[in-house]
Amino acid sequence: MFKVFKPVQYFLHLIYPDICEICNKYLVHGEKIICSDCRIDIPLTHNWNERGNSVEQIFWGRAPIVSAASYFFFARGSKYRILLHKLKYAGRYDIGITLGSWFGAELATCKIFADVDFIIPVPLHPKKQQSRGYNQSEKICNGLSESLKKPVDSKTVIRSEFTNTQTKKNRMERWRNVSNVFEIKNPEKLKDKHILLVDDVLTTGATLEACCNAILSKVECRISIATLAFAH
Ligand SMILES: [Zn+2]
Repeated sequence: MFKVFKPVQYFLHLIYPDICEICNKYLVHGEKIICSDCRIDIPLTHNWNERGNSVEQIFWGRAPIVSAASYFFFARGSKYRILLHKLKYAGRYDIGITLGSWFGAELATCKIFADVDFIIPVPLHPKKQQSRGYNQSEKICNGLSESLKKPVDSKTVIRSEFTNTQTKKNRMERWRNVSNVFEIKNPEKLKDKHILLVDDVLTTGATLEACCNAILSKVECRISIATLAFAH
């Protein structure tokens, strides 16, 4: 997680070996965040190569996107929910970077996603980001960027107004809550570019829809969407 001088890291590892975030087994050399068994079992959507997939369908009639994909399914009761929870609430931004880089390696094999110009996180309100210490979606972008070899831009799309936590609101309330909260600084930077807009979890799609339409109201560009998890 933190950059430490290699020999020091080695001895630290002897005293505090990393364990799998899912099954608590000790990780062996080359494993990160979760063990190989748990990684093989991740309920991947595999929808990044499928046009018209169920993630894209969420945005039909709501936002004119190029394509959309999520890395894994986020079902109620799934043991993999803990990864998102730790990424958001327990300071474990390394989970976002690592899973983002795994997802990016898959997206890099798709023509549509390999063609993006900028990777842009859905911004958090500055106050929220300050209390959390980071934007989890930006960490996912950093991982995607490692694999896709495309730059992250977290300065152009920003959040301008405070919204309360989304979890207990229905779709209409969420939509009202997020419309008009995004601001686009220097929209000309995005002109005619292909943007990959990134969020941690896709549920109703209200936030991503609002963000897409805020961008498209300011500048002509193409937008695709990537989320780590898909709450189907
Ligand atoms: Zn495991």
